[in-house]
Amino acid sequence: MIDKELIKKIEEEIENISNACELNEFRVEYLGKKGIITLLSGKMKELSNEEKKEYGKELNQLKTNVTTKLEAIASKIREAELKKKLEEERLDVTLPGTYIPTASFHPLNRVIEEVKEIFISMGYDVESGPEIENDLYNFELLNIPKSHPARDMQDTFYITDEVLLRSQTSPVQIRTMLKNKEKTPIRIICPGKVYRRDNDDATHSHEFHQIEGLVVDENISMSDLKGTLEIAITKLFGSKRKLRFRPSFFPFTEPSVEIDVSCFKCDGKGCNICKKTGWIEVLGGGMVHPNVLKNCGYDPDKYTGFAFGIGVERIAMLKYEVRDIRDFYTNDIRFLSQFNAIEKGEDNVSK
Ligand SMILES: [Zn+2]
Repeated sequence: MIDKELIKKIEEEIENISNACELNEFRVEYLGKKGIITLLSGKMKELSNEEKKEYGKELNQLKTNVTTKLEAIASKIREAELKKKLEEERLDVTLPGTYIPTASFHPLNRVIEEVKEIFISMGYDVESGPEIENDLYNFELLNIPKSHPARDMQDTFYITDEVLLRSQTSPVQIRTMLKNKEKTPIRIICPGKVYRRDNDDATHSHEFHQIEGLVVDENISMSDLKGTLEIAITKLFGSKRKLRFRPSFFPFTEPSVEIDVSCFKCDGKGCNICKKTGWIEVLGGGMVHPNVLKNCGYDPDKYTGFAFGIGVERIAMLKYEVRDIRDFYTNDIRFLSQFNAIEKGEDNVSK
């Protein structure tokens, strides 16, 4: 007969199983190939027929008993594990989400993109050049030799006697004309960063952005400059704007002009933006000086051209009524987030 002590031990051990690991260990120990219960069958051959009957019945009962109990335990363990997993991975759908603020296009990039779009639609290419320049490209080829008084107009950051931080984007015009070996017509704008030794205040920065434009072709005249800028300015500031050309002086253009736009805030009546004059100065330009054309290999008897320069910060300050130029560079999210409203079409410039 099966040892009563053994049956008791088996039952006690089953009672103590508390996890999948212990369950497995028990199975190996008792029901494995060389398990204690498995080996009990081996005793059969030592028994008489009469005893075999009794012993077989007892053994079967034990096996069934153990298997049923183990199945019940296994199912309890699975349930407990599932419950634990569900609790650990529980999501609280009532928790507030993490706020991710949306970015907005920087006002300076907005102006640059807007101006680019206007000129690209008129067939212009966009060119760029290095911010560290040679004196030759930044001044000399632009008709500003070393002794020229116009150099005083621009306080330049020099790295060596010949190398400097460009004080204007005009060297890109020079580079474009020089690299155009076939001397075919040119129609470009060059947006970029420029540097001058200015003391930073509400309207000045030692580092700012310009967009210059250059057209070189046969039969280009002042009226082309006027017509082109009229389209550009009215697209930038609204169709009701008027333009006023005033004679000026730049060494690289002759004749040179400064261009005013009628105030978009007061419509010419006079307000704080236009300093009561009704006009706002927005850009400078003129006909490319014959010396500049000659310096870059264009025959000034055959070719003429016009050039102009726009201050990106100035346009952005006017368009968005920004009072301090330094606000553009501080990356203050409170300042920048205001432009999200403009993105949604609430532009304060009436077009
Ligand atoms: Zn005004």
